[in-house]
Amino acid sequence: MIGAVTGDIVGSVYEFHNIKRTDFPFWSDGSRFTDDTVMTIAVYSALKEYISGGRQGDLHPILIRKMKEIGRRYPDCGYGGRFIKWIAGEDDGPYNSYGNGSAMRVSAAGALARSVQEAGELGKISAEVTHDHPEGIKGAVAVAEAVFMAGHGYDKAEIRQAMKNLYSLDLTLDEIRPHYRFDVSCQGSVPQALEAFLESSGFEDCVRLAVSIGGDSDTIAAMAGSIAGAYYGIPEDIKAQAMSHLDRYLISLLTGESR
Ligand SMILES: [Mg+2]
Repeated sequence: MIGAVTGDIVGSVYEFHNIKRTDFPFWSDGSRFTDDTVMTIAVYSALKEYISGGRQGDLHPILIRKMKEIGRRYPDCGYGGRFIKWIAGEDDGPYNSYGNGSAMRVSAAGALARSVQEAGELGKISAEVTHDHPEGIKGAVAVAEAVFMAGHGYDKAEIRQAMKNLYSLDLTLDEIRPHYRFDVSCQGSVPQALEAFLESSGFEDCVRLAVSIGGDSDTIAAMAGSIAGAYYGIPEDIKAQAMSHLDRYLISLLTGESR
């Protein structure tokens, strides 16, 4: 999860000021956590509750409760329009979204699953409480499975092969970058995030590559960072910097300690 949080915070400065290069300041005064971090932690909290309850019963209502409970504390963290209404409202039904919100929040499904299949299933459920469009679900399944594989010894060729069942991945970052425009759909940002991970040489490099594409930088970096964190691990100094941008409540949810 810290990989997603780091990507979100680093990318937050560049979401509306795209920078199509990799040699940018990794942290700056404007770096802040946004909806990607808040919802990543909300999904993590829901999955932890579900798993500590023995993986029994329906996960959907736990996700809905945690996403609303935690999400309502941060009304201005950058949610999309329909998601704001869903978070604030009493109607708990999904709204057929294929936005990348389903894929940016899903890393805990890959981190806590016991198999690729379970990662995909948990990812699917975490998506369909709001993003029940097939592309919304596919984006979440892809990132969840990639995070699981990255954390369980699969190499990049194997991860690329698995992801090619979902997306074509036929363009390199250098081919994507010149023409890439802001696109908050799963199908228009998840394959780009996967490619950033697959071409990266380390965690920081992956986040830099993800931001360098442009577009919805904090979310692309959150998705790519979640996979890279599982694959390479996260350097301690970067982890500490990321945590220093969170508040006590989010830290307590992530670490399980109240401070
Ligand atoms: Mg965001």
